[in-house]
Amino acid sequence: MSKCMLCRLKNAYISNICKHCLEDLPWNRQYCNQCALPLPTINDQQDVCGQCLSSSPFFSTTRTAFCYQFPINRLITKFKDKQNPPMGKALGQLLAYSLSNDSSIQNNPPELIIPVPSHRKSINRRGYNPTQIIAKTLSNQLSIPSASNFISKRNHSEQQKALSASERLINLANVFSITKTGASSLPNYYRVAIVDDVVTTGATANTLSKLLLEAGVQDVIVWALARTP
Ligand SMILES: [Zn+2]
Ligand SMILES: [Zn+2]
Repeated sequence: MSKCMLCRLKNAYISNICKHCLEDLPWNRQYCNQCALPLPTINDQQDVCGQCLSSSPFFSTTRTAFCYQFPINRLITKFKDKQNPPMGKALGQLLAYSLSNDSSIQNNPPELIIPVPSHRKSINRRGYNPTQIIAKTLSNQLSIPSASNFISKRNHSEQQKALSASERLINLANVFSITKTGASSLPNYYRVAIVDDVVTTGATANTLSKLLLEAGVQDVIVWALARTP
Protein backbone atom coordinates (compact mmCIF):
# COMPACT_ATOMS: atom_id res chain seq x y z
CA MET A 1 0.00 0.00 0.00
CA SER A 2 1.41 3.41 -0.94
CA LYS A 3 1.73 6.38 1.42
CA CYS A 4 -0.60 9.41 1.19
CA MET A 5 0.77 11.96 -1.32
CA LEU A 6 -0.32 14.88 0.86
CA CYS A 7 0.86 13.99 4.39
CA ARG A 8 3.27 11.18 3.39
CA LEU A 9 2.48 9.52 6.74
CA LYS A 10 -0.61 7.36 6.50
CA ASN A 11 -1.59 4.72 3.98
CA ALA A 12 -3.44 5.90 0.87
CA TYR A 13 -7.20 5.30 0.73
CA ILE A 14 -8.43 6.75 -2.61
CA SER A 15 -6.26 8.34 -5.31
CA ASN A 16 -3.08 8.14 -3.19
CA ILE A 17 -4.69 10.20 -0.42
CA CYS A 18 -5.34 8.91 3.14
CA LYS A 19 -8.77 9.03 4.83
CA HIS A 20 -7.72 11.88 7.10
CA CYS A 21 -6.40 14.15 4.31
CA LEU A 22 -9.41 13.21 2.16
CA GLU A 23 -11.76 14.65 4.79
CA ASP A 24 -9.68 17.82 4.98
CA LEU A 25 -9.87 18.53 1.24
CA PRO A 26 -11.91 21.65 0.25
CA TRP A 27 -14.99 19.70 -0.95
CA ASN A 28 -17.62 21.89 -2.59
CA ARG A 29 -20.44 21.08 -0.14
CA GLN A 30 -22.78 24.10 -0.42
CA TYR A 31 -23.21 25.46 -3.89
CA CYS A 32 -25.54 26.88 -6.53
CA ASN A 33 -27.33 23.92 -8.13
CA GLN A 34 -26.94 25.42 -11.59
CA CYS A 35 -23.35 26.78 -11.69
CA ALA A 36 -21.79 25.17 -8.53
CA LEU A 37 -20.73 28.56 -7.15
CA PRO A 38 -19.88 27.93 -3.48
CA LEU A 39 -22.59 29.59 -1.34
CA PRO A 40 -22.39 30.53 2.36
CA THR A 41 -25.97 29.42 3.06
CA ILE A 42 -28.61 27.45 1.23
CA ASN A 43 -32.34 27.30 1.89
CA ASP A 44 -34.64 24.75 0.34
CA GLN A 45 -36.65 27.26 -1.66
CA GLN A 46 -33.68 28.78 -3.42
CA ASP A 47 -30.68 26.68 -4.32
CA VAL A 48 -29.61 28.89 -7.23
CA CYS A 49 -27.24 31.89 -6.99
CA GLY A 50 -28.23 35.45 -7.90
CA GLN A 51 -26.26 35.37 -11.14
CA CYS A 52 -28.06 32.21 -12.38
CA LEU A 53 -31.43 33.62 -11.27
CA SER A 54 -30.97 36.83 -13.24
CA SER A 55 -29.45 35.19 -16.32
CA SER A 56 -30.00 31.44 -16.51
CA PRO A 57 -27.18 29.50 -18.20
CA PHE A 58 -27.88 26.91 -20.94
CA PHE A 59 -26.72 24.03 -18.73
CA SER A 60 -29.19 22.79 -16.09
CA THR A 61 -26.81 21.75 -13.29
CA THR A 62 -23.10 21.87 -12.40
CA ARG A 63 -21.23 19.61 -10.00
CA THR A 64 -17.62 20.08 -8.96
CA ALA A 65 -15.86 17.93 -6.40
CA PHE A 66 -13.92 20.84 -4.88
CA CYS A 67 -13.66 24.55 -4.30
CA TYR A 68 -10.57 25.85 -6.09
CA GLN A 69 -8.46 26.15 -2.94
CA PHE A 70 -5.31 24.69 -1.42
CA PRO A 71 -4.21 21.94 -1.90
CA ILE A 72 -6.52 21.16 -4.85
CA ASN A 73 -5.34 24.25 -6.80
CA ARG A 74 -1.73 23.01 -6.47
CA LEU A 75 -2.65 19.49 -7.58
CA ILE A 76 -4.54 20.81 -10.62
CA THR A 77 -1.54 22.96 -11.57
CA LYS A 78 0.72 19.91 -11.26
CA PHE A 79 -1.63 18.00 -13.52
CA LYS A 80 -2.04 20.68 -16.20
CA ASP A 81 1.29 22.47 -16.32
CA LYS A 82 3.83 19.95 -15.09
CA GLN A 83 3.16 17.08 -17.49
CA ASN A 84 1.56 14.85 -14.90
CA PRO A 85 -1.29 12.76 -16.40
CA PRO A 86 -1.42 10.34 -13.38
CA MET A 87 -2.35 13.33 -11.20
CA GLY A 88 -5.28 13.96 -13.57
CA LYS A 89 -6.40 10.39 -13.17
CA ALA A 90 -6.21 10.69 -9.36
CA LEU A 91 -8.24 13.93 -9.42
CA GLY A 92 -10.73 12.34 -11.84
CA GLN A 93 -11.21 9.46 -9.40
CA LEU A 94 -12.00 11.93 -6.62
CA LEU A 95 -14.58 13.61 -8.85
CA ALA A 96 -16.10 10.20 -9.69
CA TYR A 97 -16.23 9.43 -5.95
CA SER A 98 -18.10 12.67 -5.24
CA LEU A 99 -20.49 12.20 -8.21
CA SER A 100 -21.30 8.63 -7.19
CA ASN A 101 -22.38 9.94 -3.77
CA ASP A 102 -24.72 12.50 -5.36
CA SER A 103 -28.30 11.19 -5.47
CA SER A 104 -29.44 13.71 -8.11
CA ILE A 105 -26.74 12.36 -10.44
CA GLN A 106 -27.63 8.74 -9.65
CA ASN A 107 -31.31 9.44 -10.40
CA ASN A 108 -30.63 11.31 -13.66
CA PRO A 109 -27.27 10.15 -15.03
CA PRO A 110 -26.03 11.48 -18.38
CA GLU A 111 -25.74 9.03 -21.29
CA LEU A 112 -22.57 10.62 -22.60
CA ILE A 113 -19.54 12.54 -21.32
CA ILE A 114 -17.85 15.15 -23.52
CA PRO A 115 -14.54 16.74 -22.43
CA VAL A 116 -14.04 20.45 -23.20
CA PRO A 117 -11.98 20.30 -26.40
CA SER A 118 -8.43 21.60 -26.64
CA HIS A 119 -6.84 22.97 -29.77
CA ARG A 120 -4.41 20.59 -31.48
CA LYS A 121 -1.54 23.03 -30.84
CA SER A 122 -1.96 22.98 -27.08
CA ILE A 123 -2.45 19.19 -27.09
CA ASN A 124 0.84 18.87 -28.96
CA ARG A 125 2.60 21.25 -26.57
CA ARG A 126 1.36 19.47 -23.43
CA GLY A 127 1.21 15.98 -24.87
CA TYR A 128 -2.41 15.45 -23.80
CA ASN A 129 -5.76 17.15 -23.34
CA PRO A 130 -6.30 17.46 -19.54
CA THR A 131 -10.10 17.35 -19.76
CA GLN A 132 -9.93 14.17 -21.84
CA ILE A 133 -7.98 12.41 -19.08
CA ILE A 134 -10.62 13.46 -16.54
CA ALA A 135 -13.44 12.39 -18.90
CA LYS A 136 -11.84 8.97 -19.54
CA THR A 137 -11.40 8.38 -15.80
CA LEU A 138 -15.05 9.33 -15.14
CA SER A 139 -16.15 7.14 -18.03
CA ASN A 140 -14.33 4.11 -16.56
CA GLN A 141 -15.42 4.71 -12.98
CA LEU A 142 -19.07 5.57 -13.70
CA SER A 143 -19.56 3.29 -16.76
CA ILE A 144 -20.77 6.13 -19.00
CA PRO A 145 -19.33 6.41 -22.53
CA SER A 146 -17.26 9.46 -23.46
CA ALA A 147 -16.72 11.09 -26.86
CA SER A 148 -14.04 13.63 -27.75
CA ASN A 149 -14.78 13.88 -31.49
CA PHE A 150 -18.19 15.59 -31.34
CA ILE A 151 -16.94 19.16 -30.81
CA SER A 152 -13.81 20.72 -32.27
CA LYS A 153 -11.86 23.80 -31.23
CA ARG A 154 -10.95 25.99 -34.13
CA ASN A 155 -8.49 28.70 -33.10
CA HIS A 156 -6.11 29.28 -30.31
CA SER A 157 -7.96 31.29 -27.70
CA GLU A 158 -5.03 32.13 -25.45
CA GLN A 159 -5.60 35.83 -26.05
CA GLN A 160 -8.89 35.41 -24.09
CA LYS A 161 -7.31 36.95 -21.00
CA ALA A 162 -6.79 40.30 -22.74
CA LEU A 163 -10.44 40.56 -23.78
CA SER A 164 -13.42 42.09 -21.98
CA ALA A 165 -16.20 39.78 -20.76
CA SER A 166 -18.44 40.45 -23.76
CA GLU A 167 -15.56 40.14 -26.23
CA ARG A 168 -14.69 36.80 -24.61
CA LEU A 169 -18.17 35.42 -25.23
CA ILE A 170 -18.10 36.38 -28.90
CA ASN A 171 -14.59 34.94 -29.21
CA LEU A 172 -15.67 31.67 -27.55
CA ALA A 173 -18.70 31.25 -29.77
CA ASN A 174 -16.42 31.36 -32.81
CA VAL A 175 -13.92 28.91 -31.37
CA PHE A 176 -16.03 25.77 -30.91
CA SER A 177 -18.07 23.91 -33.49
CA ILE A 178 -19.97 20.62 -33.73
CA THR A 179 -18.22 18.10 -35.99
CA LYS A 180 -20.00 16.04 -38.66
CA THR A 181 -19.85 12.97 -36.37
CA GLY A 182 -21.29 15.09 -33.56
CA ALA A 183 -24.11 16.46 -35.72
CA SER A 184 -25.28 12.96 -36.69
CA SER A 185 -24.84 11.38 -33.23
CA LEU A 186 -25.88 14.05 -30.72
CA PRO A 187 -29.66 13.96 -31.40
CA ASN A 188 -29.58 10.37 -30.02
CA TYR A 189 -28.61 11.60 -26.56
CA TYR A 190 -31.05 13.02 -24.05
CA ARG A 191 -28.60 14.14 -21.35
CA VAL A 192 -24.91 14.96 -21.90
CA ALA A 193 -22.28 15.97 -19.32
CA ILE A 194 -19.56 18.43 -20.32
CA VAL A 195 -16.33 17.80 -18.41
CA ASP A 196 -13.91 20.63 -17.57
CA ASP A 197 -10.97 20.92 -15.17
CA VAL A 198 -11.93 24.17 -13.42
CA VAL A 199 -15.14 26.17 -13.78
CA THR A 200 -14.44 29.89 -13.39
CA THR A 201 -17.07 32.07 -15.06
CA GLY A 202 -18.91 29.18 -16.69
CA ALA A 203 -18.59 30.96 -20.06
CA THR A 204 -16.93 28.01 -21.83
CA ALA A 205 -19.47 25.53 -20.44
CA ASN A 206 -22.29 27.87 -21.43
CA THR A 207 -21.04 28.23 -25.01
CA LEU A 208 -20.66 24.45 -25.37
CA SER A 209 -24.07 23.83 -23.78
CA LYS A 210 -25.76 26.13 -26.29
CA LEU A 211 -24.08 24.27 -29.16
CA LEU A 212 -25.13 20.87 -27.78
CA LEU A 213 -28.75 21.97 -27.28
CA GLU A 214 -28.84 23.35 -30.82
CA ALA A 215 -27.46 19.99 -32.02
CA GLY A 216 -30.46 18.17 -30.50
CA VAL A 217 -29.40 17.24 -26.96
CA GLN A 218 -32.26 17.79 -24.46
CA ASP A 219 -30.31 18.48 -21.27
CA VAL A 220 -26.70 19.54 -20.70
CA ILE A 221 -24.99 19.28 -17.31
CA VAL A 222 -21.45 20.27 -16.29
CA TRP A 223 -18.89 18.32 -14.26
CA ALA A 224 -15.52 19.69 -13.19
CA LEU A 225 -12.80 19.08 -10.64
CA ALA A 226 -13.15 22.48 -8.98
CA ARG A 227 -15.09 25.75 -8.90
CA THR A 228 -13.55 29.15 -8.22
CA PRO A 229 -15.31 31.29 -5.58
ZN1 LIG B 1 -2.66 12.00 4.30
ZN1 LIG C 1 -25.26 29.89 -10.06
